[in-house]
Amino acid sequence: MHVLWRGPGEVQIGTDAGRSTIFTNLTSAEERVLLAVPRLSDSAREQARLAAGIEGERWAEFTAHFVKDEPYRPIRGMVVALDSHPITERVRSLLGRIGVESSGGGQTDVGRRVAVLTDAWVTDPLRIHELLAADVPYLPIVIEESGTVVGPSVVPGATPCTTCIHLARTRADPKWPVMATQLRTVPQRRLSLMEIETAAALATHALAGLLSGHASGGWHVSDERCLPLAAPRALPCGCGALTPLSEGDRDRA
Ligand SMILES: [Zn+2]
Repeated sequence: MHVLWRGPGEVQIGTDAGRSTIFTNLTSAEERVLLAVPRLSDSAREQARLAAGIEGERWAEFTAHFVKDEPYRPIRGMVVALDSHPITERVRSLLGRIGVESSGGGQTDVGRRVAVLTDAWVTDPLRIHELLAADVPYLPIVIEESGTVVGPSVVPGATPCTTCIHLARTRADPKWPVMATQLRTVPQRRLSLMEIETAAALATHALAGLLSGHASGGWHVSDERCLPLAAPRALPCGCGALTPLSEGDRDRA
């Protein structure tokens, strides 16, 4: 936590725009103690407050805005890579740099695990079937025509799975399954280093989040842009993440 002096009787707690608090009309004792807070232990802060004669109620107005600096906690768990696509491989390399273990498959019953897979054009539902059955959160990466889509991450039973999203796409375009089948035979385009590195970095962040229990939204990455995606439309596939809609709701879905 940082406390900054803004002028006589004026102190700012925090530095981020929109997330800092400014106190004005402080007494010189309040100002002095507040500026000292970052380098004092909890007990030393209390001693300083008492020595400066700041009442408990007044002190509580300040402490409500104190931010605890959390120590870095190593991320525990294993990321299982389901393929050796260049993006998946780069993700494994980045995970290694931040101290997260990854495996190329097989040894998957070791503590907490999440999975990552990269496909051209469309995620193959068969590849994620076992993950859903075993309640393993995963991050799909898909190389599309205009860029690479990273995520959204899938937490079985809690967020829409790849099949839920396919069902919504089929509802919007009944010929989508025909397209998806054809796309499996269409060669993947060449990826630039910019696209691979950016997609891999976003995926690494999303996987670290999944290991810590946070699901993340999707990103579209191309050489020109890197944009967060709106939540995709989804229909319940039976994975439990979405409640089946009534017929009336289906018309609006
Ligand atoms: Zn589903």
